Amino acid sequence: DKLNIAIDGPASSGKSTVAKIIAKDFNYIYTDTGAMYRSVTYLALKYQVDFTDEKALVDLIHRYPITFKQAEGGQLVFVDGQDVTMAIRLPEVTQHVSQIAALKAVRQELVKQQQSIAKAGGVVMDGRDIGTVVLPDAQVKIFLNASVEERAQRRYKENMEKGIACDFDELKEAIAKRDYYDSHRENSPLKQASDAIAIDTTGMSIDEVVLAIENIAKQ
Ligand code: C5P
Repeated sequence: DKLNIAIDGPASSGKSTVAKIIAKDFNYIYTDTGAMYRSVTYLALKYQVDFTDEKALVDLIHRYPITFKQAEGGQLVFVDGQDVTMAIRLPEVTQHVSQIAALKAVRQELVKQQQSIAKAGGVVMDGRDIGTVVLPDAQVKIFLNASVEERAQRRYKENMEKGIACDFDELKEAIAKRDYYDSHRENSPLKQASDAIAIDTTGMSIDEVVLAIENIAKQ
């Protein structure tokens, strides 16, 4: 039977990397919920919608459905007839996404879409609130974490590989700040489900984390 696998954790905890591999191994659908919050942020910036105008933001979500496409090199994100896979990772989007994700009406709308994607099972979904809010009945719930230092190092390496110039200390500070904002504000999404299995991935390789989760899913 096809399970739903929920993977939550803070920024750069390795969620999407391991979730993608597990989805491929199990022939499941991968859903990156962070990409959905990022897409709404991208739209708000593009159409200059006030970040506090919940109604206008929900209208944006209705007008421009977010879709995922599986491609050779990975998953592509489309919105407003455009491939935004790269655009939603730009610093301007990253800086504002927590603010958009704090809005109740925006969350409600995206959670509804995420639940509908997972209705039939066979989904690996990563985010902050998957095990608690989106898929409380998921058969497998994982909460990934790693030290801020380690997460900043991973992001730094990733950026270097992609040829993106960045400053390590700035990266580290930005990650710590986003964590703080994602876990301390009202409607904070980042919570570990009581029945989630926590894995501290500091010092673990990607393969080791994938194996650990796949073993849990096979039990
Ligand atoms: O996962 P990623 O870092 O791309 O997520 C971007 C932002 O989207 C997070 O910092 C958080 O504010 C928000 N988010 C959320 N709930 C989710 C996934 C992401 O609030 N399930």
